[in-house]
Amino acid sequence: MSEIKVRFAPSPTGYLHVGGLRTALFNYLYAKKVGGKFVLRIEDTDQKRKVKGAVENLISTFKQIGISFDEGPAQGGKNGPYFQSQRLEIYQKHIHKLLDDGNAYPCFCSPERLEKIRTEKMAKKETPKYDRYCLTLDKSVVEQRMKLEPFIVRMKIPDGDEIVFFDAVRGRVAIPSAEIDDQILIKTDGFPTYHFANVVDDFLMGISHVIRGEEWLPSTPKHALLYQFLGWKLPKFVHLPLLLNPDKSKLSKRQGDVAVEDYLKNSYLPEALLNFVALLGWNPGDNQEVFSLDELVKKFSLKRVQKAGAVFDVEKLKWMNGQWIRAEKLEKIAELGKPYFLDANLDISDKRQFLAAVENARKRVDTIPEMVEHSLPFYRDLDFSDDDLEILRNESSQKVLKFWAEKIAEKSDWNESEIKTLIKETIEKTGIKGKDMFFPLRLSLFGNTQGPDIPTLIEILGPKKAVERLKIQL
Ligand code: GLU
Repeated sequence: MSEIKVRFAPSPTGYLHVGGLRTALFNYLYAKKVGGKFVLRIEDTDQKRKVKGAVENLISTFKQIGISFDEGPAQGGKNGPYFQSQRLEIYQKHIHKLLDDGNAYPCFCSPERLEKIRTEKMAKKETPKYDRYCLTLDKSVVEQRMKLEPFIVRMKIPDGDEIVFFDAVRGRVAIPSAEIDDQILIKTDGFPTYHFANVVDDFLMGISHVIRGEEWLPSTPKHALLYQFLGWKLPKFVHLPLLLNPDKSKLSKRQGDVAVEDYLKNSYLPEALLNFVALLGWNPGDNQEVFSLDELVKKFSLKRVQKAGAVFDVEKLKWMNGQWIRAEKLEKIAELGKPYFLDANLDISDKRQFLAAVENARKRVDTIPEMVEHSLPFYRDLDFSDDDLEILRNESSQKVLKFWAEKIAEKSDWNESEIKTLIKETIEKTGIKGKDMFFPLRLSLFGNTQGPDIPTLIEILGPKKAVERLKIQL
């Protein structure tokens, strides 16, 4: 069997869209799964849409997220991406074959004329296709005008019934030829359009599977024809389902963040993002939802890619992020949380205390910044309401607090089971138990009657600070 090779082929128009990440990930997973290669190709032939810094941005996002590419021309000792703008001669060579064979033709029509045809056809509710005026020109006229005038090159869609191709997700797809425009292949600036460069490169780079979003499905008949015109074997086409907003409209910026870098900036875990997008249009066939990248590679199969649109639900992403916040190494989560704690002016210089606070907070959050809110009571002076003070100052509470203040002060190191023993001892010695014991303790240590259990509170505060707090209303 020939080599399996897939590619991610973004246009450098800014940032990496979550849909782009999904496409890249599915390509990556497939390549890893079957021992194939994964290529990055920058489709930068549209000079007008180029955005400065977009490629660097894209590469850095992939690096942060942990997706790597296998192949590309050597750049600074590494395998950099392919850039279509550096391959213009290659496209020129192939367009000549199409022109010579009569499968493409030059078109001299002005943008104004083209616009006029468009509007007229639209008004008549017809497909706004080019009227093929330039195809009727005499060969000698064409040759003469090519020397003197700017022109574009169009492909000639054969006048058949329909164009048929196979898609791994959708099966046989047939599009009536009448609906297909004579696609522009080369623009007046000599640059190829997406369609032409994409097909030429996919073939020359040996791409075996074209895995991309469903929005490219309508372009595929033109691509299939180009392969046929050029006498090339077709790759396998795999169109991934559309991404939808929760209201089932097409995923848009207006309904939330769609840039992967924004999620990373807000400290979403790469593992969570990958895990989340992996499930946008693919499922493992069982109920498992949390997967590492390695597990995804093992489980992934193109057969389980679905046809129906996949809903991009930020709440689910948050949930997934929470799962990963709890699954990752504590030190890593603490490192990610650090800037947010510092921003809130919390003194986290006591490393032991900081790690304990993070361990407590990460059990309760879905995102890293939320950990601050859950840790504030350990770092800031507590505020008591009148109701709180009433609890803290009643006779039985005072008894409990005093007993604990004295006991905790006895040594500088307490573990969970010792605190549990102390709870039992309190009941034996004071006869106070349940709410009457726990409310004043938690209130004085944490500022709230609800919250983490007492051993956790003592662990985070450390005995010294705990004693200070137990004493404050005595
Ligand atoms: N350059 C296209 C894009 O921006 C590539 C589509 C494809 O994968 O063929 O998504």
